[in-house]
Amino acid sequence: MTVSSFHPPSRVLMGPGPSDIHSRVLQALGRPVIGHLDPEFIMMMDEIKGLLHYAFQTTNQMTLPISAPGSAGMECAFVNLVEPGDNVIVCVNGVFGGRMVENVERCGATAIKVVDDWGTPIDLNKLEDALKANPGVKAVAFVHAETSTGVQSDAAAISALAQKFDALTIMDAVTSLAGTPVLVDEWKIDACYSGTQKCLSCVPGLSPVTFSERALETIRGRNHKVQSWFLDLNLIMGYWSSEGATRSYHHTAPVNTLYALHESLVMLKEEGLENAWKRHAKNHLALKAGLEALGLTLLVEEGYRLPQLNAVKIPGGVDEALVRRRMLADFGIEIGAGLGALAGKVWRIGLMGQSSSPRHVTLVLSALEGTLT
Ligand code: PLP
Repeated sequence: MTVSSFHPPSRVLMGPGPSDIHSRVLQALGRPVIGHLDPEFIMMMDEIKGLLHYAFQTTNQMTLPISAPGSAGMECAFVNLVEPGDNVIVCVNGVFGGRMVENVERCGATAIKVVDDWGTPIDLNKLEDALKANPGVKAVAFVHAETSTGVQSDAAAISALAQKFDALTIMDAVTSLAGTPVLVDEWKIDACYSGTQKCLSCVPGLSPVTFSERALETIRGRNHKVQSWFLDLNLIMGYWSSEGATRSYHHTAPVNTLYALHESLVMLKEEGLENAWKRHAKNHLALKAGLEALGLTLLVEEGYRLPQLNAVKIPGGVDEALVRRRMLADFGIEIGAGLGALAGKVWRIGLMGQSSSPRHVTLVLSALEGTLT
């Protein structure tokens, strides 16, 4: 068998992530490798921390990108904060809330589930009832932007409830960061993680995380060692949080991927967070209007819709997989299938990061029209 270089086809990425990437970010990836303890590299790491403070709207000292995808950010939050015997309330209204339950249980803790229908936000009354019925829960965990359904929940209100009952908050912001407001300090979120491949429009494979001082106190007061060596923040701190010369090797950082993250965060700073949020909102409205003109409707009720992830109901009699295949083959456009309980019921159209532009909206609408008729 002869194997030659791999050249990926040209695609327009409009699924649930990864999103399209700007040439500036791709060029950053191709810069020369330097050592992960090189003083110049460490200066860049410090800049990444500063830029992540901006993206998360936090001053948390413990803010850094984990060298692995969003799922590792999720695990990092749970393995560091949750110990055997703890009780954790997990709000489940889609696939990723379900994964949080798995994480809690794998930490040897009990997950108390607050379940809502897929396509609806987390119900605050149910959460309050669960907090009243289970005094002493360690944390409330929830997904801010459920990628499986396109729903956004009220993070500020969820966090306020958790504080009222003296519980920590663990928030998944994989799909929300840089697409809709994520205000970690204002909302008093204790642990928050994201991914690089969605609204940050960077390559997949890194998970920015941030932990509050209260979360760090909880970690310092643990009775058991963190069960994961790689994700133990006490150890990662030695590489990401120490001053210059005292930084020590923990793992070989993904040097070039971090160049790419740095560039995408510089681009976010240049645009400005609020402008990025406005851009995502505006392109969502244009997409919605175009979908309605095609006779298509969104799954989620107005007011709870994520502008960056649009779950579109599949009309009766349409072979949804064939539509996606034709969109890819004839137009080079990737849109997402439904996940879990919504498989076969919705398409997921992402307008994330660089893929949130008037050009993308027009392309996907005309391709859908061409495919459906
Ligand atoms: N959480 C949410 C809400 C997600 O959408 C995803 C990925 O789509 C993840 C977690 C997991 O991230 P990754 O696929 O980068 O591991």
